[in-house]
Amino acid sequence: MSKNITFTMIKPKAVENGDMGNIITKIIEGGFKIRAMKYTRLSEEEARQFYAVHKERPFYDSLTGFMSSGPIVAAVLEKDNAVQAYRDYIGATNPADAAEGSIRKLYGSSIEANAVHGSDSDENAIIESKFFFADRDWV
Ligand code: ADP
Ligand code: MG
Repeated sequence: MSKNITFTMIKPKAVENGDMGNIITKIIEGGFKIRAMKYTRLSEEEARQFYAVHKERPFYDSLTGFMSSGPIVAAVLEKDNAVQAYRDYIGATNPADAAEGSIRKLYGSSIEANAVHGSDSDENAIIESKFFFADRDWV
């Protein structure tokens, strides 16, 4: 399997809780190489655009309000089979169902404030990475 990328965000609640450093350490320990990273904030309009695929879901307004409520960390991660490897590593969407030791189990507060985002396909990993990063930002 060749090297692939995935895209992640550390969500506002985890940043607010002071878990940003622990989560970045855990990502590195998991063998994910950081290709780009920034500390930033989404406007509500940007959050609605980023999560547009979920616009018919009942949690869309709440999710996009939450995701624009405070600073986040956005990052591009590289690993073999990165998308699936990272989804396995962060755990289930609901932290209550996430495996012991996973990022969402350790640092998630609720199904919405579940500590981190992880891309769901190689195609979306590229779209999401380009949403935040210019070619100049990749190392
Ligand atoms: P994942 O992030 O695991 O890929 P989804 O793509 O289904 O999950 O959902 C995107 C995000 O929307 C989740 O990470 C979570 O923050 C939020 N979310 C998902 N399901 C719910 C729900 N039932 N209630 C509130 N928020 C939810
Ligand atoms: Mg998803």
